[in-house]
Amino acid sequence: MNSTAATLVIRERLRQRLLPHEEPWRCQGEYCGGCLCDGCGERITSAQASYEVDFAPGVTPQSVRLHRRCFEIWLCESQQQPLS
Ligand SMILES: [Zn+2]
Repeated sequence: MNSTAATLVIRERLRQRLLPHEEPWRCQGEYCGGCLCDGCGERITSAQASYEVDFAPGVTPQSVRLHRRCFEIWLCESQQQPLS
C-alpha cells in the first residue's frame, strides 16, 4: 500500500471514529511484528518499525498500533480533522 492509499484509509477511519483524534498520551516505538496496523489495516512485519500509542482514559479506542509511516500520517490527519 502506498502513502496515498494509506492516507485515504486512515482519513476514513478517523471519520468513522475507529481512530482517535486526540493527542497521544504515550507512544512507544517497537519492533513487534505479527499484529495488524490500526491505520492501514495491513500486517506489521518484524522488519517494520511500529508505534504502540496509548490514549488518556475515556478515549476510544484506548490504544492503537501503527506502522511508523501510518503513525505519521495519522498525526497529521488527526490534526486536520475538525472536532465535532
Ligand atoms: Zn499501517
